[in-house]
Amino acid sequence: MTSANPDNKHEDKMLSAMKSFSEKYAKNTDTYFCIDPSVTAVVIEGLAKHKEELGSPLCPCRHYEDKEAEVKAAFWNCPCVPMRERKECHCMLFLKPEDDFVGDKQDIEMEEILKVREGLATS
Ligand code: SF4
Repeated sequence: MTSANPDNKHEDKMLSAMKSFSEKYAKNTDTYFCIDPSVTAVVIEGLAKHKEELGSPLCPCRHYEDKEAEVKAAFWNCPCVPMRERKECHCMLFLKPEDDFVGDKQDIEMEEILKVREGLATS
């Protein structure tokens, strides 16, 4: 499913880095992915995109006037301060066992994430 275009290799590496970060972080914090894997995939894809563009995985579920300034402020670099302090992830990437829409997985297939990226690329 990976593209032969060498430019995409770097992007795929970022996707894989953010996938692996999310899986490890969920395990370390006893949180779980959403029951709907497309939610998890969209957030991971967004984090990877910000990491590619900005050098940091700025939270993809917020609007920013100035993304560069937000990266420097670091509050919303994933894992953001609300997540680190209170396990609050408004993107629904990391859900506590008692949260609505929580699933039982701490892993996601790369296929799911690539589906999102390819969907976004063609829209
Ligand atoms: Fe990461 Fe926080 Fe955004 Fe959740 S809300 S994806 S923990 S930055």
